[in-house]
Amino acid sequence: MIGTGDGCPQTGVLLISGAHAREWGGPDICINFAADLLEAYTANTGLVYGGTSYTAAEIKSIIERLDVIVFPDINPDGRNYSQNTYDMWRKNRNPASSGGDPKKIGVDVNRNYDFLWDFNTAFAPGAKAAGSLASDKPADDLFHGTAPFSEAESQNVRWLYEQYPQICWFMDIHSYGGDLLYSWGDDINQTTTPDMNFTNPAWNGKRGVEGDAYGEYIGACDQANVKTAAEATCTAITAVRGVTYTAYQSFFLPALGLTYPTSGASDDWSYSRYFSDPANKKVRAFTMEFNAAGTFFPSWAEMKLIIKDIDAGLVKFCLGALPTYSLPWWRCRLRDFYYAIWHRVFPPELWGPYGPWERIRRVIEAIVIPIIRPIIKTFRNR
Ligand SMILES: [Zn+2]
Repeated sequence: MIGTGDGCPQTGVLLISGAHAREWGGPDICINFAADLLEAYTANTGLVYGGTSYTAAEIKSIIERLDVIVFPDINPDGRNYSQNTYDMWRKNRNPASSGGDPKKIGVDVNRNYDFLWDFNTAFAPGAKAAGSLASDKPADDLFHGTAPFSEAESQNVRWLYEQYPQICWFMDIHSYGGDLLYSWGDDINQTTTPDMNFTNPAWNGKRGVEGDAYGEYIGACDQANVKTAAEATCTAITAVRGVTYTAYQSFFLPALGLTYPTSGASDDWSYSRYFSDPANKKVRAFTMEFNAAGTFFPSWAEMKLIIKDIDAGLVKFCLGALPTYSLPWWRCRLRDFYYAIWHRVFPPELWGPYGPWERIRRVIEAIVIPIIRPIIKTFRNR
């Protein structure tokens, strides 16, 4: 975890990579990002990535006002196998479901999270035909394991969320495609019908096909928020040396011009945690697909350039995660105390993220805060 750690948990940003063994560059992107941040902070300088640059004050704000948690390689066994035995390997190396057959080793870590994991029940037959959802056959590249979180790799990511409940932003770094994907990944987004959502069993067997009755609910504010963050990150990446990165909803795979429904993916699970249990913080979750060229194995010369591209984007992503206000430790305690009382008055379990309390909160976020914020700013600048 990168941060000054003064005893007051700051807004958390979790970056993970390496879930898919053959996507070699992801862990390098993460390590270089962490090193860049720390070196710039220590030297009190900014960071320059080609046409994208950041000031020393911006780097300072990331270190001092965020907790940036970097887990560069969540699947080291798979990576080792890909780098030494079979380069196109995707899964982990868990032999539990193989029955001794080497062709049946491994679980796709990014289909093992607890979000609509039981795809046979949750999704429509047409969605399964897309070939991206998941598989219950151990020999397949998309084998989703024997249960949600059956794998050590996904359990470790879940542990980070339990250890650092302040996490509010998440990115899982994959390749390839040249895009940054935001929620949701199971079906097309809709902002009008809160009851139509992944927790509602009435929609089992009906999810995952474009143009049908089902759409996954996302609040209009949330959707605007994640889209804006993804676009700002892409703009920063593109400005480095002109490689175009584009923001999309993760239900689509623009590189192939297709829908790409997924079950049990890290980004959907991260965002869904708040809706499954309102005591969890809401996490804005993204999947990066680095490398605009269609290969898992760019040359090292090219990969070094890609690392600069994506790290420039990650700095921008963190700047977007900065809270409007950061509190000193004693106000931190006061806030926790206040929240404890507040949650007694408006218990989140009772009202729920799809209920009227959430609607009130969204109205405040959309209307009242934009009015108050400039007034406070004027006040502070005097
Ligand atoms: Zn991947």
